[in-house]
Amino acid sequence: MTDQPKIKVGVLGATGSVGQRFVQLLADHPWFELTAVAASERSAGKTYREACNWFLSADIPANIAEMTIQPIDTNLDCQLVFSAIPGDIAKPVEEKFAAAGYGVMSNVKVHRYDADVPLVTAEVNPDHLQMLPIQRKNRGWDTGFIVTNSNCSTMPLVITLAPLHRAFGVKAVIVHTMQALSGAGYNGVPSLAALDNVIPFIGGEEEKMVIESKKMLGTFENAQFTPAEFALSAHCNRVSTIDGHMETVSVAFHRPPADESEIVRLWQEWNPLPQQLGLPSAPVPPIVIRREPNRPQTRLDRDAGNGMAVSVGRLRKCDVLDYKFVLLSHNTVRGAAGASVLNAELMLAQGMLDGLR
Ligand code: NAP
Repeated sequence: MTDQPKIKVGVLGATGSVGQRFVQLLADHPWFELTAVAASERSAGKTYREACNWFLSADIPANIAEMTIQPIDTNLDCQLVFSAIPGDIAKPVEEKFAAAGYGVMSNVKVHRYDADVPLVTAEVNPDHLQMLPIQRKNRGWDTGFIVTNSNCSTMPLVITLAPLHRAFGVKAVIVHTMQALSGAGYNGVPSLAALDNVIPFIGGEEEKMVIESKKMLGTFENAQFTPAEFALSAHCNRVSTIDGHMETVSVAFHRPPADESEIVRLWQEWNPLPQQLGLPSAPVPPIVIRREPNRPQTRLDRDAGNGMAVSVGRLRKCDVLDYKFVLLSHNTVRGAAGASVLNAELMLAQGMLDGLR
């Protein structure tokens, strides 16, 4: 892989909460070269440093800081774009890029539920990428495509459930989220609403968790996605942490394991495709098991595996369903930009980016 020329990539929405993560992850990537940063007309024409209210703890990568922000148009000098733009403008924009021959790796919700668009977590359902030839045929696209990743609360949930679903068959899930402020975008929740507070509502999030977890844990057969069949009840809450979504999960199985050790063994031994392929962003291990009674914790564990691992703990029997546990993952890395970059690495490693523009 190392002797191949790098794929040129761009970021749509490069100045935002997710866009900044993309810039951080792509600035020095072994397989991708960040050649275009694009944002709204407000930012276009300025240098990235001028336009961006950078709030990540490491400095703006020096090779990106002086790049000129471009408007979001299909003359960007790149082959693949990572999309982190608001949902209300994304649908026509992403389709226009795919029609123009760009690969589109989208973080936005607008295409996630389309019948011919893969919604992929690289460790969980890489086979869903096989939909792409059908998508191109349906839409009359030559080399372009759209691949989406899920919302930030669903992704760690499906990662922890995937190995268990295969072994025991998930029957029902109850999940409560404690979601960080960065999940709402930089201007998302005003500080006076967020500080000293918990907000028990995140618009659309509970519905997304239901639909997206079933699509990703479902199958791709006979040229179609079939959602997994289980009941899921989600309670989504915004808490005043900056990064890192925590979730408490209760789960019932069709064939429940005799004790916790079988679940722990499956999590420990899980070695999905991105890890087998040694992809640059694939965390090893994908699931970090914390044994301490008070872990995972948001501040201590959100950066596990460079922000790409999901930490779990407090696994125990549940008096209502079968077992319960806590999970924690970094919402703008694992739950957004990092997951998208990992999907692109997976596609590159499998020859699925050959022939792009
Ligand atoms: P954000 O911080 O508000 O950033 C929005 C980005 O889009 C900025 O770069 C902004 O550029 C650009 N933009 C805004 N209006 C635009 C327009 N009319 N035309 C072109 N560009 C425009 O939002 P975010 O949290 O990064 O979220 C971006 C997308 O990712 C959303 O669809 C969101 O649902 C999704 N997502 C977010 C998370 C998360 O954890 N935050 C997780 C998963 C998915 P300017 O700076 O020039 O305004």
